This record gives sequence, C-alpha cells and structure tokens, in this order.
Amino acid sequence: MKKLVPSSLDPYQVFNDIASVKRLEKGERLKRIAPEICNSYKIYCNSISDLSVMYPIGFTGLEKEDLEDCYLGKTNPLNRLLADIIESQALPIRSQCQYCGMGSANTFDHYLPRSIFPEFAVFSLNLLPCCDTCNKHKSNVFINNLEGKRQIINLYYDNLISECYLNVSIYYKDDVPIAEYSLVQTSGISDSQFCLIKSHYSKLKLLERFRKRSSEVLSETQSSIKTHIKTKSIERVRQFLLEEAQRLRDIFSNNHWKVVLHEGMANSSKFIEDCCLTQ
Ligand SMILES: [Zn+2]
Repeated sequence: MKKLVPSSLDPYQVFNDIASVKRLEKGERLKRIAPEICNSYKIYCNSISDLSVMYPIGFTGLEKEDLEDCYLGKTNPLNRLLADIIESQALPIRSQCQYCGMGSANTFDHYLPRSIFPEFAVFSLNLLPCCDTCNKHKSNVFINNLEGKRQIINLYYDNLISECYLNVSIYYKDDVPIAEYSLVQTSGISDSQFCLIKSHYSKLKLLERFRKRSSEVLSETQSSIKTHIKTKSIERVRQFLLEEAQRLRDIFSNNHWKVVLHEGMANSSKFIEDCCLTQ
C-alpha cells in the first residue's frame, strides 16, 4: 500500500470545465451551484485529516442527478482529470490498486460515496484509482454508523505506510503450504489507527483475498528456487527470499501482501527445506 499523490489540476476549474461542456439547461444548473461546490471543496480540504466529520450538502432531484452525471457522463475535461490522477502516481504502482496491492487500478473509488456526496463526484481528492473488486467491496462504506468512525484508509492522507502491521505465517495442510495473513498492532500504531486498519482489511476482505492469491506465489517461488538456485542450502534459499522481500518492499512498501509473504517463506523452515529437496 503506497500513499497516492494528489492531482495538481485546480479542482474548481475542472468542475467549471465539465459544467461548460454540458448541454444548456444542465450546464446552467451546474454553474448556479458552482459557488456551493467550491465551498464544499474547501471544507473537504480543511477536514481531510478526518473526513468522518463531513456532512452531505443534501442535493436532491435534478441537481443531484446533474452532479452525478459530471462523473457518469464521460467528457473531455473529466477524462483529462482521471488521466492526470493516474499519471500523478509513481510508475511502478500506477496501474496497481493501492487499496489491495493486487488488482489493476482500472476504476475510481469515491472516498465519500458519490450517491451520498454528489458534490464530490469529480473532486480529485475524493477519487482514488482502485480495482473492481475493492470498489465493489467498499461500495458506499464510509463511516461506521454506530461509532461515526471512518472505515477505509484514505490513501491520499493517512500515514500508515512506515509501520508494519501485516503478518503472515505459513502452515501446511496435506503437505501443501498455505499462507495465513493477520494484522498486528505494533507500538507505533495507535488504537484508533489500528481500528481503521482492521476495518479497512475487513471491509475489503483483504486477508482472505491475500490468502487465495498467495498459493500461486508460493508454488511459483518454490519452482523458481528449484530451477534457478544451483547450489541450494538453507541459508542460500533464505537469503534469496529475504532479498526478494526487500526488492518488493522498495517498490510497494512494508505492508504489501507479497513482501510479507516472502518474509513468511524465509521464516518457514519447512518451506525452505522443501525448496532444497532435489526434484
Ligand atoms: Zn484493489
């Protein structure tokens, strides 16, 4: 999971550009509410450290439809915005969903759901590139209705990258390695941060999805070690796995599922012994 870099395009200008290309009545209605939209963008920016305090303006009827259509009705200014959000990200992670670190970032999540907050339908800071699966699982999830706390990590703002909170242990079932992922609260993570992390992983079903995807990596890594490391020893194989974990960490950061999986493999004596067996 890497932090996202915000688009540098002026969000209010983008809104006006989209309003300008809409047909007459719709364009006029959008221009009439533009000052309110501009004000709501300012409130969003002032509240970005904890968006759970945000309340929808409450647009209804045609105005709500018009605002949602700014995103749903594809226009050149919108396409430019979406392309700029993607191109603002570092090349190695540009095409990858940072909610999960697995899927292709081929959709955009509205951090504050579009149906509840149509005023942020085309606000760049509210648009996060992500995969179909994460987008579907997140759906309209925003805050916990009982506690009023955010449930999904904000990739533009939350500083959770440096702490290691994802762990994996490898166990065997019928002689087949299985990776079991878990979350751990280390000393650098506050209770409220850990609540947010747990909720994020639970809502997006990440631990289960990592587990399913890991079987392919476990099998490929084992076969790659058997093929490419000529003189196998416990230490040589462990070193290979740790070097691969570090290479992936440099690209994807600490809590990427593949980084911890390689560390898990390096910590599993049975996995390494199996790699050392001659075919
Ligand atoms: Zn995803």
